[in-house]
Amino acid sequence: MSQGRLEELRTKLDEVNLQLLGLLSERAKIAQELGVEKEKQGVPKFDPVREKEMLEALVASNEGPFDHETVRHLFKQIFQATLSLQQVDHKKHLLVSRKKKQEDTIIQLGDVSVGGSKPIMIAGPCSVESYEQVRTVAAALKEAGITVMRGGAFKPRTSPYDFQGLGIEGLKILKEVASEFGLKTISEIVDPAHIELACDYIDVIQIGARNMQNFELLKAAGDVKTPILLKRGLAATLDEFVHAAEYIVSRGNTQVMLIERGIRTYEKATRNTLDISAVPILKQETHLPVLVDVTHSTGRKDILAPCAKAALAAGADGVMVEVHPDPATALSDAAQQLNIPQFHDFYHAVKSSGLM
Ligand code: PEP
Ligand code: MN
Repeated sequence: MSQGRLEELRTKLDEVNLQLLGLLSERAKIAQELGVEKEKQGVPKFDPVREKEMLEALVASNEGPFDHETVRHLFKQIFQATLSLQQVDHKKHLLVSRKKKQEDTIIQLGDVSVGGSKPIMIAGPCSVESYEQVRTVAAALKEAGITVMRGGAFKPRTSPYDFQGLGIEGLKILKEVASEFGLKTISEIVDPAHIELACDYIDVIQIGARNMQNFELLKAAGDVKTPILLKRGLAATLDEFVHAAEYIVSRGNTQVMLIERGIRTYEKATRNTLDISAVPILKQETHLPVLVDVTHSTGRKDILAPCAKAALAAGADGVMVEVHPDPATALSDAAQQLNIPQFHDFYHAVKSSGLM
């Protein structure tokens, strides 16, 4: 083949490449529009039946020189690339995404703002065990200047033989004590049927790590106006965590706070592994307040203060810690709860760092 002919064919190929690129881009734009339309109609992006039909039509028109398998393979690649494009677009449009809303979401709990300029401290027992127990903690918190108290009334326990919580009775105790001391309360709800009722007793509904992907619970939480504290699942990726929050926000409840509580890894030195990097990533990718539960993420009282400082230094909007009047006798998480003097020391250490 002469040099001239070679050049001529190469030039032709270059032209065809450009034409193909033009056509692929045109196809991608149409697919993006289709993606938006599917989104509106709530239709899934990937439609395997439609994909199969398109491939069959192409193969039926194929006259070579490519064999049918090659045509199938090439077009499957194109379809896959288009689908990824639709999915990237979809992510950009998540309601919880920073791309959707630039400003931080600030959640008002009475006079306390969560997600504003000042980080908050949330403290309280793992479980609500009695009126006296909650009252003792509440009095200590009040004295320390803490205004948001936690306490589990419904406890999702690994063993069915362990203390399951006082249930509604526990919510009543929280309400009574909170009104006496002027505190705001947070408590976990595990059953979608209890969400509405919970709003009468507590100020924030916690959705626990084990329920982060309990989609019916998330939907029920999205149907009320009460703020939600959503915990990261034991083995949830940040993408799954963000999508769980999206479930709530997409139903109309915009008052969602995210809380990193450690993830399961092979490390045994701590109960879970505190993923500090989750804090700046979630702050960057979402506009929601991001908190860190130092108790469940470490399960160790001796490292709570440095971990809380690390969380705040990384940009957390608050820290959660468990406090019990007599941890040794606690009905859940006995080993990891601080007693009241230990809590005062912890709080002092965190505050004196100047980070809160
Ligand atoms: C809790 O906060 O008491 C609790 C059970 O936490 P988690 O869901 O993070 O394990
Ligand atoms: Mn606990």
